[in-house]
Amino acid sequence: MRRRHFLATLAACALPWRRLHGATPSPRIRPFALSRVRLRPGPMLDAAEVNRRFVLGQDVDRLLHNFRRNAGLPSSAAPLGGWEAPDNELRGHYVGHYLSACALIWASSGDAQARLRGDKVVAALAECQRARGSGYLSAFPEELFDRLRDSRPAWAPFYTLHKIMAGLLDMHALAGNAQALDVVKGMARWTARWTQSLGDADMARVLEREYGGMNEVLYNLAAVTGEAEWREVAHRFDHERIFRPLADGRDELKGLHVNTQIPKIIGAARRYELTGEPRYRRIAEYFWHEVTGRRSYATGGTSNGEAWNAEPGVLSTELSGYTQECCVTYNLLKLTRQLFTWTADPACADYYERALWNGILGTQHPGDGSKLYYVSLASGYWKLFGAPLEDYWCCTGSGSESFAKLGDSIYFSDDDGLYVNLFIASELTWTERGVTVIQDTRFPAEPRTSLTIKSPRPIGFALRVRVPAWTARGGSARLNGKPLDGFAAPGGYLVLDRIWRDGDRLDVALPMAVSASPTPDDPSVQAMLYGPLVLAVRMGSAGLGPGILRAEPTRPRTIPEYKAEGLPMLALAGRAPWLVADGNKPLTFHTAAGDRREFVPLYQILDERYGVYVKVPT
Ligand SMILES: [Zn+2]
Repeated sequence: MRRRHFLATLAACALPWRRLHGATPSPRIRPFALSRVRLRPGPMLDAAEVNRRFVLGQDVDRLLHNFRRNAGLPSSAAPLGGWEAPDNELRGHYVGHYLSACALIWASSGDAQARLRGDKVVAALAECQRARGSGYLSAFPEELFDRLRDSRPAWAPFYTLHKIMAGLLDMHALAGNAQALDVVKGMARWTARWTQSLGDADMARVLEREYGGMNEVLYNLAAVTGEAEWREVAHRFDHERIFRPLADGRDELKGLHVNTQIPKIIGAARRYELTGEPRYRRIAEYFWHEVTGRRSYATGGTSNGEAWNAEPGVLSTELSGYTQECCVTYNLLKLTRQLFTWTADPACADYYERALWNGILGTQHPGDGSKLYYVSLASGYWKLFGAPLEDYWCCTGSGSESFAKLGDSIYFSDDDGLYVNLFIASELTWTERGVTVIQDTRFPAEPRTSLTIKSPRPIGFALRVRVPAWTARGGSARLNGKPLDGFAAPGGYLVLDRIWRDGDRLDVALPMAVSASPTPDDPSVQAMLYGPLVLAVRMGSAGLGPGILRAEPTRPRTIPEYKAEGLPMLALAGRAPWLVADGNKPLTFHTAAGDRREFVPLYQILDERYGVYVKVPT
């Protein structure tokens, strides 16, 4: 979310066209419905459970308070704080995320409570919509949209509307709530009328204000209903000023607010999926390659102060307490998933894994489920979690969704078989083939995974297991205990196309090693990785009292706003290899030379200072 004081400016820089895949109009690869995948015990299931408690711990009547008041209906609930406070212009946004989170939790775990909560909110929102009678549904008055139309200050009305529409559509698509579809169609009709009153020039001006993924949700509505009219409304939110250079292969992203753009690009990707127009695929692919390849940190995250401030490839000077907004990672994962279904490119899966483990997993406090806004990448900072149930940042919302869909993108299928992209303990019900796949793994604590096929009858399909680009020497596989000849090269798939019988088991060893990821513009500034895991050096907790580890409602929400100091970047001495594994503790490393500074995965860092980038001698 654009915090108000970040202003976007535009500066152009021409770059050569980058690698693109040949266009094919329909997706080759299909994701599995979330309801077909159940997580099994491990760090991902632990995190999903923390979030489930966080989401179910919300008070529905408090969430609905501003909607009811805005519709002239009674509400005696205590208003919430933060970005859901009655005077906040973003109020209502979290309720949209909440609906998505309830739908996702229901789909991924079968928790009936989550669906009931979602149903209750949908019914209440329908009542609010009926009370106003125009289709308009929001926790703030339409007057904010008048201001938007008239170029007067209004934070981001369509951004908020997008969250509510997306939440309703998720309740329909994932939780079978028919009323949610009626409500979202009412909102879409209101949106159609509002946009019809504006000419293209006025609409272009409106699109300069952050509007989330209004194009995406309207394309999704067109897909769900089969009603082409919603495509026309969606087109009004396709932002040509941003799309044009991307379609032409030019990176003009410098100066832009990051999370304002990515949802639009997801919308462009949806347009391609619905219409087959290759231009929109070019936009999405060029953007993805540019951002993940040249504008992302070793963690897979991007943005500094919520913006791209520099030319592509300049990262060493972009390390601050405001780096890597969590919503950005959430959105990049969505886009990556789309690209994978078009291409089956293992680089998409490599990126997804890296951003998931380093940019999502450690961004929730395991104690109470509160979420991070930024993953600070300046040295010596810490994770400043929100105040539980009181901040309602944009990232509180996207985080509530991220941790509700950790079973997503582990598996994909096509006509030939199955893709196993992520090493996460889970069970897949592959209904179309009558097959169950059980993935047993203690990854990343152990660098291997096992896949067991359950099938009442022998069945032929290709089982493709991703062999990540980070795989060190010695990767191997065993089928039913017998070593297989050969192995796939890192950055590809191990493919076994055969007749599978009930109980067949494939064991895959994926050795991990420490590697360094230098910033492209300064090779002496490096992040250390173990396999896909970014490692962080532990820097103690000096100066971190209780009032500074948590953002409090009455206090600022970012570390720099606390005027708190970081620590100098750790300088490593000697030469590579820089780190050696601790023989006693898993996933723990020490500097090879000097005073044995301890490194652990970034996702495990909690309530202490840390450093991701270190200085190495050149
Ligand atoms: Zn955010």
